Amino acid sequence: MCGNCNDNSHTDAPASPTRRRALLAGAGLAAAASLAVMPGQAQAQEPSSPAGNGPWRVRAYGNQRADGPFGPLEIPRRALRPNDVLIDIMYCAICHSDIHIARQEWGPPYPATNFPCVPGHEIIGRVTAVGSEVTRFRPGDIAGAGAMIDSCGECENCVNDLEQYCVKGWTLNFNTPDKFLGGYNYGGFSQRVVVPERFTVRIPPGMNLAAAAPLMCAGITTFSPMQHWAVKVGQRVGVIGMGGLGHLAVKLAVARGAHVTVFTSTPAKVADAKKMGAREAVVWTKPDALKAYANSFDFLISTVPTSVPTHPITGMLKLDGTYVIVGAREPIEDVRGSGLWLQRRQVSASLMGGMAETQEFIDYCARRNIVADIELIKPDQIDRAFERIKTKDARYRFVVDLT
Ligand SMILES: [Zn+2]
Ligand SMILES: [Zn+2]
Repeated sequence: MCGNCNDNSHTDAPASPTRRRALLAGAGLAAAASLAVMPGQAQAQEPSSPAGNGPWRVRAYGNQRADGPFGPLEIPRRALRPNDVLIDIMYCAICHSDIHIARQEWGPPYPATNFPCVPGHEIIGRVTAVGSEVTRFRPGDIAGAGAMIDSCGECENCVNDLEQYCVKGWTLNFNTPDKFLGGYNYGGFSQRVVVPERFTVRIPPGMNLAAAAPLMCAGITTFSPMQHWAVKVGQRVGVIGMGGLGHLAVKLAVARGAHVTVFTSTPAKVADAKKMGAREAVVWTKPDALKAYANSFDFLISTVPTSVPTHPITGMLKLDGTYVIVGAREPIEDVRGSGLWLQRRQVSASLMGGMAETQEFIDYCARRNIVADIELIKPDQIDRAFERIKTKDARYRFVVDLT
């Protein structure tokens, strides 16, 4: 059913000047004001009858096969349940995981990509309806959603606000079974999404909304391990890979007062790293280049989306130093006992953050004015952006403008 007029015969209209004006009208806009510019959506915004009698079909952008181009299509969104929030998406950034899944680059144990595929999991938008039991959002608020949109809510980790480590497995916001509508769910390259309140964060007023979108995956993925391993003032931190995740890792480690060194394979990124506060930026293509940094770092984080040999990296850690992998899911190559026991070093990996931590992180970034460096694109530029990410031409996150 169309969310604009409750008519089953068609879908949401393509982005219109009216929709764009309404979405951009400013964070914290009162619901009444929002209604005033979107009269057709009055029923969708009534908290007492949230979102009418879905599911609706909404406009999205996806691909029909792994090597196929992105194009407009229609996807279903469920009617709101009592704990759901309906978000009219304004911006959705492109994470490397979107490319891996849309292009079917990940093999087992990850499920095969189901087509059509609509990825996108760094979402910022305006709340246009809430379920009857939602307490933290009102229509008009700005909300964010990330890669994780559900979990069991009952296991020890979920109860302890560590939903990303749900022992029953959390639900990705696309290409995972949709337990409400059947089939597979669809991500944020679309006009609207329905997300449980628990998996939605409030975006504080004053943030650059397009540049804040990458915080929802890239940002929290690098912040969470820095929290867990308590990166602090004066420590030496090495960031390996300076793409979407890496450039945020630099900003976040600098914000904590660490002495940051970037290891990149792209000479053109050296100046950017220093502008972002890194003390040094090392162009690194061969493991031998790392020997000069033996026993130097308290904390190393690899944001590279593919596997890199571990032994030359762990050699850079001090006593009790930790090397955390956040960008790659491949086997961790070349971990040697001798490289670890000499300085009691640790190798670990980390997944985004729990939802309470994600809210804390967004508030932290708002207070410190930390956002991503972005290039805003239109939906018909997604394929080109994928290619530019693969050729390391992104500076540093592409954000799809869906207003
Ligand atoms: Zn991601
Ligand atoms: Zn759980």
